[in-house]
Amino acid sequence: MDDPSTSLLHALPDAVYVIDPATSRIVDCNRAAHEDLLLDRESVLAHSVLSLQTAIHGMPAWSEIAEAIRQNSPYRFIGAHRRADGSELPVEVMTTVATLDGKERFVSVARDIRRRPGMTEPHAVTTKRWQILHDLADGVWDWYPAEGRLVFSPRLHSLLGYGPEEMPEVIETWKNNVHPDDLPVVMTTLEDHLRGERHQFEAVYRLRNRNGHYLWVHDRGAVVEWDVDGQPRRVCGLVHDETDSKAVELRLQREADHDALTGLFNRRRGMELLDELFRRHPSENERRVAIVAIDLDRFKRINDRFGHLVGDRVLQRLGEIIRHDLPGGAIAMRWGGEEFLLGLAVTREDEPLALVERLRDTLADTSWGTPLENERITASAGLAIRDTPDQTLTDLIASADRSLYLAKRAGRDRAIRDRRSTGTTRALDHPPTEPSDATP
Ligand code: GH3
Ligand code: MG
Ligand code: MG
Repeated sequence: MDDPSTSLLHALPDAVYVIDPATSRIVDCNRAAHEDLLLDRESVLAHSVLSLQTAIHGMPAWSEIAEAIRQNSPYRFIGAHRRADGSELPVEVMTTVATLDGKERFVSVARDIRRRPGMTEPHAVTTKRWQILHDLADGVWDWYPAEGRLVFSPRLHSLLGYGPEEMPEVIETWKNNVHPDDLPVVMTTLEDHLRGERHQFEAVYRLRNRNGHYLWVHDRGAVVEWDVDGQPRRVCGLVHDETDSKAVELRLQREADHDALTGLFNRRRGMELLDELFRRHPSENERRVAIVAIDLDRFKRINDRFGHLVGDRVLQRLGEIIRHDLPGGAIAMRWGGEEFLLGLAVTREDEPLALVERLRDTLADTSWGTPLENERITASAGLAIRDTPDQTLTDLIASADRSLYLAKRAGRDRAIRDRRSTGTTRALDHPPTEPSDATP
């Protein structure tokens, strides 16, 4: 550095290195560089830039690093330089590709990040104490709300598939990647903690990675420093990737709530949801609860003639038809065997009948393929709408079930609405299967 800018370079508080991209050797440096490393200038020039780095797991080959620098110049890197006495110097390094004396050179400016304004403690990413966390956690974040800065650990970058350049250190980077359905709860939890209403911030939510896929993360953090006014000055947290265990949990949850054959809710879960629906819509409400009970006609015959597997295919298909046509907010469950129960809140009396006729039409139009091509597969349905305040959910289901019984008696392949508002006449768990008195 013998040109007129030499004195300027030596006066800079940040270390400047000039590197040969072909070999990684340091070919020049300023005073701050060798002073920072506790070496004389000649010793620094004997080093490769790689030998300055403290151990980095899985450090790629220099040629790969050089290529990344070329493609992302100026390339930013946060790490630690090893000093002559064995201690570590936390640094933020910006590397730019330049042409000096006709040769390609990398010019790196390494700033001791403990010198950053407002930084009373060594930077989280680089202190030993934090390094342990960095190795243990899938991600560490370090947030300075007043400065608007949110620092992400390298493992958090790589968890989300981003390079160091690609995650601006601001809260929006994180917020923009939280699943929109999860964001309100996550933010409320965080704000409650910042106001002191929760002793820590803890949330399980979906975080989008670079590919647009969502990871399930368990995120836990807390304010670690307050300013003189009692405002949070620094908030730190750990992120754990729970995508795999969450997937298992979601699958088990789904299996526990759904009927495996039809994909509809099973009776237990369906009844829980129906109960909630019923509570939300008292009879004096504008929307009233309607119940539809559906039962396949003469299904035993299908099983007997074509076997259980063919019968299963019919049940499966009816499940699909119901799922496909079900209005939003409606609940459909497999009540048992070849019987299904739907619950929905309606504003018009004719809505449930219109729905069930649509389902029955689709069923009638279904082409079943071999060996059912000559079969007419139909279903009967019974309907009930809540119309008195004293009617319980059980009354309403009994009423729909009674209508179903009437539909079977009247010759099957039809839907009937029970107009009697009260009174249960039969045990719900034992709907009639083959009305002996009225089989057509
Ligand atoms: P109805 O028109 O009066 O309803 O006559 P049905 O034959 O449909 O009624 P029944 O209750 O006599 O027979 C119901 C049949 O449903 C008996 C049973 O073998 C069959 N079934 C129940 N669950 C399943 C299932 O999961 N798979 C298959 N393939 N069949 C089932
Ligand atoms: Mg049946
Ligand atoms: Mg039945």
